[in-house]
Amino acid sequence: MNHFQYRGGVLCAEEVSLAAIAATVGTPFYCYSSATLERHYRVFADALPKESLVAFSVKANGNLAVLKTLAALGAGADVVSGGEMKKALAAGIPATRIVFSGVGKTKTEMAAALKAGIYQFNVESEPELLALNDVAGSLGAKASIAFRVNPDVDALTHAKISTGHAETKFGVPWSRVTDAYALAATLANIAVCGIDVHIGSQITELSPFAAAFKRVVALSKSLRAAGHDISRIDLGGGLGVPYRNDNIPPPDPAAYGALAAEVAKETGARLIFEPGRMIVANAGLLVTRVIYAKEGENRHFLIVDAGMNDLIRPAMYDAYHEIVAVAEPQVNAPWTRYDVVGPVCETSDIFGSERALPVLKADDLVAILAAGAYGAVMASAYNARPLAPEVLVKGPEWAVVRPRMDDDALYASDRIPPWLG
Ligand SMILES: *Cc1c(COP(=O)(O)O)cnc(C)c1O
Repeated sequence: MNHFQYRGGVLCAEEVSLAAIAATVGTPFYCYSSATLERHYRVFADALPKESLVAFSVKANGNLAVLKTLAALGAGADVVSGGEMKKALAAGIPATRIVFSGVGKTKTEMAAALKAGIYQFNVESEPELLALNDVAGSLGAKASIAFRVNPDVDALTHAKISTGHAETKFGVPWSRVTDAYALAATLANIAVCGIDVHIGSQITELSPFAAAFKRVVALSKSLRAAGHDISRIDLGGGLGVPYRNDNIPPPDPAAYGALAAEVAKETGARLIFEPGRMIVANAGLLVTRVIYAKEGENRHFLIVDAGMNDLIRPAMYDAYHEIVAVAEPQVNAPWTRYDVVGPVCETSDIFGSERALPVLKADDLVAILAAGAYGAVMASAYNARPLAPEVLVKGPEWAVVRPRMDDDALYASDRIPPWLG
């Protein structure tokens, strides 16, 4: 469910015409719907055991206005860098609701997080644990930790976003988990408080979650028997979203909530969740303008002004995004099949091939749907293309929440070495 609909012949975000925004801010631009963000957050949070911490995965969408919208609903943050932690704090998310994940935390990042007083570090290796103990010691602090364990389950998702089987870099291998906790118990500046698991992203079936959670419940029992404090269990993120109209719907939050409730009942632990995609993906889209309708040898191309630098998911993950015309197609409009492509000089700069669309011409607008997660955050200025702006809509109101990057900013921070004068 989202709040992007045709009204009066034009695709709108809540009550605002995307064509009207395009006329003001230009194209391409990202547009997010507050009502959709709020709805997704509530549906998810309401399905979970009370007292759970919902730590929004900042890497899915780190815009401060998005973070603030979620913070107002009580969201915490799951961060994977010192930069993301700063953003979460700047958006008003209290440190006590921030968890720090990631395989490569630096000592500088650890120190900043300890000083901020974050809730928990999700530690992914023994060397990281030792480094954290050192940093905490030098600050006279104690770090609350959960180990991210690798339960060796297949998340049944795209290889590039699958993280919970034994061959990935993520988490402590299952065979070493007991030893890792034993090591942690010997360290003066580490306080073990729980277990963390995150098996991947865009997971559309419940069975991988069920398998991973089952292993975690069993682990919590054996760790407690060994004397460890397991009062928190972080079940990660990863719930999939529908990217295709004809898709089988991904697991419904209530069914996922029932699995979580089982973990809570079996362990009595406080649960933590790290949803990203399911909160923001369908709350955002990318609006782009047709530059040319080009006839190939035997294909029709729509060359649009957004490129893979703006939205890399199709090129990187073979991701499918629905593409629609911003002007509502007339009942008798002729349709055709287009390859919708960007201007970037790469063959992989394709948003969709052979997509059914009404016949379009230069200057018409199209919207690439479900682009709110891993869209703007993964954008680059490749091909010296300024980063696209982001717009947030709330009912009849809208605001630019990040302006388009200035052309001059593309090279303003380059420096000429002395020998080039
Ligand atoms: C990416 C990530 C998430 C969020 O995943 P989604 O699929 O967007 O829900 C949560 N936790 C960790 C550790 C991650 O790396």
